[in-house]
Amino acid sequence: MQYLSTRGGAEPVLFSEAVSQGLAPDGGLYLPVSFPDLSDQLDRWTTLSYPELCYEFFKYFATDLEDSDLRDAIFKAYSNFSHSEIAPLVPLSENWQVLELFHGPTLAFKDFALQLLGNFYELQIRRTGRELCVLGATSGDTGAAAISGLLGKSGVTVFILYPDGKVSPLQERQMTCTGADNVFPLAIEGTFDDAQKTVKELFGDLSFRESMGLSAVNSINLARILAQSVYYLYAWLRLSPKDREVTQFVVPTGNFGNVFAGWLLTKMGIQMGGFRVATNQNDVLHRLFDSGNYLLGDVSPSLAPSMDIQVASNFERLLFYFFEGNAERVNEVMHKFRSEGRYSFEDFSIAGFSSSSTSDSEIPELIQKVWTEHQYLVDPHTACAFKNLSITDRAVILATAHPAKFPQVFEQAGLGKPTSPVLDALLDQSPQKYKISVDSGAVRSFIEKKLKPA
Ligand SMILES: *Cc1c(COP(=O)(O)O)cnc(C)c1O
Repeated sequence: MQYLSTRGGAEPVLFSEAVSQGLAPDGGLYLPVSFPDLSDQLDRWTTLSYPELCYEFFKYFATDLEDSDLRDAIFKAYSNFSHSEIAPLVPLSENWQVLELFHGPTLAFKDFALQLLGNFYELQIRRTGRELCVLGATSGDTGAAAISGLLGKSGVTVFILYPDGKVSPLQERQMTCTGADNVFPLAIEGTFDDAQKTVKELFGDLSFRESMGLSAVNSINLARILAQSVYYLYAWLRLSPKDREVTQFVVPTGNFGNVFAGWLLTKMGIQMGGFRVATNQNDVLHRLFDSGNYLLGDVSPSLAPSMDIQVASNFERLLFYFFEGNAERVNEVMHKFRSEGRYSFEDFSIAGFSSSSTSDSEIPELIQKVWTEHQYLVDPHTACAFKNLSITDRAVILATAHPAKFPQVFEQAGLGKPTSPVLDALLDQSPQKYKISVDSGAVRSFIEKKLKPA
């Protein structure tokens, strides 16, 4: 299988190359040139365990990896999860089920991709002998999950930018209390979008990128998307056959990575009942699906901080299919959007998507409502999925984080603070972070000093 850039200006590459590059050299995102038809496999796959299913799925995409390496990478990644089913499906009512994606080491769904990505990087370094420098921006959970996935991996140095004071104290501790000497959490002045912009700028400097061996772990990395497709498939296979085509997946969304991963399955012969894009008050995507206007606003910090995003990177991948693979059109829209901060689509409709937006005042109310009606505790991101969800809708709700990760909100919801032993253990460790200006020059010289000390 080969991979092409959404902007049409990069040579096709194989899986390992697409994964170690992250962002394509022309600034676009990688997508597979074609999709396998999985419909013939589904009967056989219904009984597979999570890692087995993941392996079968990835065999179609990671065609340049040895089967045994691929299998090891996958089985090792999911051995770090604390639930035997990895992604258990928990019934809430007759029509609703929650797909719990928070049983990985950092208690958010991003572990699904990043535990695996760390192992793919190791394979890549073994193959090429070249060390990698991982650079990413995070609104909290990506950084924690990336750091956990890459901790102590030899040949990998990790630089993660995050907005100082705008991630939860526990998320910050997950990033800064690792004690690992290959990890540098950089607390920048500014927002997540500022951090992401700096990261994009540094990736845009091809000579810097080449000399440092930069790789991206943000959800622009194709391996992350594919790893996330697997839990949609796993959940779908667990629905009764008559429900599969009518059950919608409700997905708390920021960067559009998670929901895009699910939607990709519809291109592989899987009949799904649609996707609901559930945003918080930073609702650029909701407005897009509602009105066709893609309009950049200011990020307003919310109770669901991992979704405090205005520029949804992975939207570019959807755009590629919206324009039926016309990379020139993708280029045009992305440039216009970048220079003007807006784009209006005359007719933006993609079958299968609906959306919602949840304000901060509604989040504690939704948490309380779900608790009262179903005795189930959701974190503030997952709470957004319940906005306008009808009890008669057949739905799989993605629970993207463990409630103990965001304990502040529960007081407002009139509930006790949830806890987790994994997080409590962090309180005994001493944090180490590096405060830095968001200016790309400052970040560049920090990286150079660490990697190539004079
Ligand atoms: C990252 C994250 C999201 C948003 O995921 P996207 O892939 O950016 O849409 C939602 N909830 C939690 C808890 C997250 O960590």
